[in-house]
Amino acid sequence: MIEQYDDVEGYCKMLGHFLTFKYCRSANNGLPCSKALDCWFQNFPVQEFISTNYTAEEQKKIVEIPKPKIQSLSDILEQAQKRLREES
Ligand code: SF4
Repeated sequence: MIEQYDDVEGYCKMLGHFLTFKYCRSANNGLPCSKALDCWFQNFPVQEFISTNYTAEEQKKIVEIPKPKIQSLSDILEQAQKRLREES
């Protein structure tokens, strides 16, 4: 059951306050936060939770280091320029 650890509470170093795993479980565009393994391994078997509840492709996305926002914006602009070039 995917909600089984939703009420487990921990301190988030990134946000600077306590929260429950429910937040972390979907903080990464609906997938667990990329730091979930580091943050929760002492509280419950988070590795097992992830391998049980997510596909191999999702697990790959979960551990990917998020791109800095400026790089994401740059990627979006590049894609828009490419689309415009293709349309003209
Ligand atoms: S998994 Fe992410 S959101 Fe959750 S406590 Fe760790 S850093 Fe914070």
